[in-house]
Amino acid sequence: MSQPTIESILQENRLFHPASNFSQQANIKSLEEYQRIYDEAKADPQAFWAKLAQTELDWFHEWDTVLDWQPPFAKWFVGGKINISYNCLDRHLTTWRKNKAALIWEGEPGDSRTLTYAQLHREVCQFANVLKQLGAKKGDRIGIYMPMIPEAAIAMLACARIGAPHSVVFGGFSAEALRDRLNDAEAKLVITADGGWRKDAIVPLKEQVDKALADNAVPSITDVLVVKRTGQKTQMEPGRDHWWHDLQKGVSADCPAEPMDSEDMLFVLYTSGSTGKPKGVVHTTGGYNLYSHITTKWIFDLQDTDVYWCTADVGWITGHSYIVYGPLSNGATTVMYEGAPRGSNPGCFWDVIEKYGVTIFYTAPTAIRAFVKMGEHHPNKRNLSSLRLLGTVGEPINPEAWMWYHKIIGGERCPIVDTWWQTETGGIMITPLPGAIPTKPGSATLPFPGIIADIVDLEGNSVPQNEGGYLAVRHPWPGMMRTVYGDPDRFRRTYWEHIPPKDGKYTYFAGDGARKDEDGYFWVMGRVDDVLNVSGHRLGTMEVESALVSHPAVAEAAVVGKPDELKGEEVVAFVTLEGTYQASEELSKELKKHVVSEIGAIARPGEIRFTDALPKTRSGKIMRRLLRNLAAGQEVSGDTSTLEDRSVLDKLREGA
Ligand code: ATP
Ligand code: MG
Repeated sequence: MSQPTIESILQENRLFHPASNFSQQANIKSLEEYQRIYDEAKADPQAFWAKLAQTELDWFHEWDTVLDWQPPFAKWFVGGKINISYNCLDRHLTTWRKNKAALIWEGEPGDSRTLTYAQLHREVCQFANVLKQLGAKKGDRIGIYMPMIPEAAIAMLACARIGAPHSVVFGGFSAEALRDRLNDAEAKLVITADGGWRKDAIVPLKEQVDKALADNAVPSITDVLVVKRTGQKTQMEPGRDHWWHDLQKGVSADCPAEPMDSEDMLFVLYTSGSTGKPKGVVHTTGGYNLYSHITTKWIFDLQDTDVYWCTADVGWITGHSYIVYGPLSNGATTVMYEGAPRGSNPGCFWDVIEKYGVTIFYTAPTAIRAFVKMGEHHPNKRNLSSLRLLGTVGEPINPEAWMWYHKIIGGERCPIVDTWWQTETGGIMITPLPGAIPTKPGSATLPFPGIIADIVDLEGNSVPQNEGGYLAVRHPWPGMMRTVYGDPDRFRRTYWEHIPPKDGKYTYFAGDGARKDEDGYFWVMGRVDDVLNVSGHRLGTMEVESALVSHPAVAEAAVVGKPDELKGEEVVAFVTLEGTYQASEELSKELKKHVVSEIGAIARPGEIRFTDALPKTRSGKIMRRLLRNLAAGQEVSGDTSTLEDRSVLDKLREGA
């Protein structure tokens, strides 16, 4: 018998059924209904997607071919003509939604703005005309480097309207990171702001753009558009730089949406860089529109009375699919918040929920763990009774963090959708449908209808139940990435060759380890690159970390392997503590014991390192590869451009 690919040692048996009043009103109402839809989609994926494309979206011209699959290159709805900005805006204007709030925005200093569908449409059309006046046309790539203000969404929708693919670069990135991405995408324009508010300080975005473009470092750029947000003094280069409000003044609001080929590029977006150099992920129009639309509708169970808030930044795929395109395509009210929890206002998220009566709240495990650390008195002081559904995305959520979210934020009444997906997948792939699928803390549960997900070994064979393996997808889906921008070979190598194609059948390799339990539920165990190898046992990081987090002293934990002559690797755990706890030799011993009693001696950390913070990507994901270097006493290597805070590494080094 060959060894399992990744071993699973965590036991989690809690099960939560959706409340019957939630299920009754839900879009998908029962496990049986989910199963029926899932089976139907599995039996004939093309028919399933085609039917949804017909009923859920507006097309200028219908497609001839649902799927053209020349592995690993897929084309969906070939021959179809569509525009996502039309689907997000124009089609709502002929309904009662015309005067419904499309976007509710709250700035960090407390200013706010609400745009109805009619108003948002008007601004998008005007700005699309501005772009045209600057010479932007179908196919030109446009960089967007903005704070979380309505103009970020307006810019994206305006690009989509004229068929110019956008490339949003997270506003927290450095000038160098911006320059590399603009160059990789060969952008013609950049849209930015003088600054944005983050944690009570101004992020000088325009200054970063100037640095990125200095010495003609991005030769493709002809113009820079600048939104006045913070009003601080800003250098404007004559001829190149323009104020948004100057150009927008008096411009016609008549700008019909460009009929795009279904397969025309909608955007290129770079991955978070948790495992290495970020990849320029290409998404196209029709398939992405359908996938972001239908996943939003079913997973967040959108109803017309909902106030939906996703706390991601538009610089990440979550912001693309679940702040802008998915909610607006559904005619929902989407909340956008500029700031972040900060010393002066640790409870700002709860204020936003109370102020707008948010009903659906979607955030990341990293944020939840930070809330746990800050203490439950912050949410407890606010009225969160409007909430009816919660979601998480970005990393595996430790069961104890899930329980806290369930109790303290959800008041034990809100289902939690733990959504597994990637920049590459375009939308959520594995997730509960909240009215239908009972949840287990730490499991993303079941695949979305039409997604043929599996756990496989490196030959592509399904592994037995409860055995760890590689998370894989067997059939193309409309929201899948089409290629790595400018590098189809990297696309093939990274996603389609780890599992060798068999009989012409290709399997998508996600790069995450996972297992499926006796109910078919998926448990993501961590990234394949981060798997530990202890005395011949391959362990995912998630389970050991969750065991640590289940100790009351631990707020957050990251485990890595350190080379060891006897065991191959020894487990080293980096741990941050909750409020009142102090690092000590005793606590270290206690935590080691705790891991042994929770999941067994095999996972016992050889070393516990206490720290104030863990190195994370700007999207809040733990970067274990950097910790692995530190644990082994090596210099940190590889791409660190997406690291959030360099000083975290320096401190860890000093502490070593
Ligand atoms: P890079 O690919 O550049 O290393 P990245 O993988 O962090 O960066 P993203 O596309 O932002 O870039 O993140 C996708 C990854 O996030 C998934 O592959 C998975 O590891 C993790 N992830 C996202 N959601 C979940 C979830 N609900 N449960 C477990 N893991 C998740
Ligand atoms: Mg990835």
